[in-house]
Amino acid sequence: MDIYHRSSTISGAMNRNKRLPLRAVTILLTILVAACPAQTKKIGDIELNLKKKAEELAQKYMIIDTHLDVPYRLKQKMEDISERTAEGDFDYPRAKKGGLNVAFVAVYVPAEYEGTGNAKKFADETIGMVEGFARTWPDKFVMARSVADVKKQFGWGGISLAMGIENGTCIEGSLANLKHFHDRGVRYITLAHSKANHICDSSFDPEHKWNGLSPFGVKVVAEMNRLGMIIDASHISDDTFYQIVELSKAPIVATHSSCRHFIPGFERNMSDEMIKLLAEKGGVIQINFGAMFISSQVRQQWADLEKKMDEYIETHNLEGQEKDDYTEQFKREHPLQRVHVSDVASHIEHVIELVGIDYVGLGSDFDGVGDNLPVGLEDASCYPNLIYELLKKGLTEEDIKKICSENLLRVWSQVEKIAHELQSSQ
Ligand SMILES: [Zn+2]
Repeated sequence: MDIYHRSSTISGAMNRNKRLPLRAVTILLTILVAACPAQTKKIGDIELNLKKKAEELAQKYMIIDTHLDVPYRLKQKMEDISERTAEGDFDYPRAKKGGLNVAFVAVYVPAEYEGTGNAKKFADETIGMVEGFARTWPDKFVMARSVADVKKQFGWGGISLAMGIENGTCIEGSLANLKHFHDRGVRYITLAHSKANHICDSSFDPEHKWNGLSPFGVKVVAEMNRLGMIIDASHISDDTFYQIVELSKAPIVATHSSCRHFIPGFERNMSDEMIKLLAEKGGVIQINFGAMFISSQVRQQWADLEKKMDEYIETHNLEGQEKDDYTEQFKREHPLQRVHVSDVASHIEHVIELVGIDYVGLGSDFDGVGDNLPVGLEDASCYPNLIYELLKKGLTEEDIKKICSENLLRVWSQVEKIAHELQSSQ
């Protein structure tokens, strides 16, 4: 979850760096066709074959996506996700078409729950909702708690649902609660969300309360290692990240972050230095598809619009429903620019160039970034389009397999193994 309200349908012009303007492409294609129709046909055939191959690979290999916000979406408006839904990014037919096998659904707890005493209850209710998906539609969804589960369930035909808590505020200062969530099947925790909490600081919060982890946060890291829970480096501040890298006995995962290289200064994404450290520790960065994570122009546009919105809200003292209505209307009237699926592929390519093929994967943030998704990557049916872009960049079948699931499975297995060792040595 990375925005709070769904923005309106986006109709802005595509915004792709290093691309020829559409007019120039059209002229070029016209010249090519006129000059050499056979050559053009050949190019067309190659593209068609790559597209076919991408579709095949999406179905052949396991695809794990480490961040989908479908529970949050269904809390706003319940829908039958066993059938194709009118709106939304994830449902069974879309996931099947896209070749998705394992969906880590986010048990998102808003930052406002910190210190209220209701955060654990809220998380427990969301977990109950996810379990309900598997109970209500057992032929389509099944819960997954381990690497063994997802491997066993691969090829069965349904979707494995794994759970990650987004915002450790629901631990409510108790390691017993942490164990409780592990017992309920939660396999990763994003330690903070948009604000600092009792565990650590947040990348979105200008106030750095702890300069990294709190004393309790240090204990949380150790206990997560012992229990076998993946520590999620998304949303946390840089200081927190560096401290976790030092402290954690197991590799860590950024479940839905992209590369700061493309958006300098945007702390929610990972810098090159951080990606290198993550890789040295054997971890993985799962690339977020949201345009605000992908393009600096969109990020800047969003920041400018947010500033205008905030100013208006403040000067007109808007609150409650009035504030929500104004925000919705403003966003409808000011659609964000769009990016393209190939821009997401560029982030993956950047990680590969930086640290190699073994440290990157997919963390879409579907149902968590509103209508802020790239052209060609609008919902869970679109993974083949991303694979196609990666094949076009020259990646091999073996590379695709690693990005789709093997890298993440390696980290998850390692987390399980280290937990086992820690528990045996006690
Ligand atoms: Zn998020």
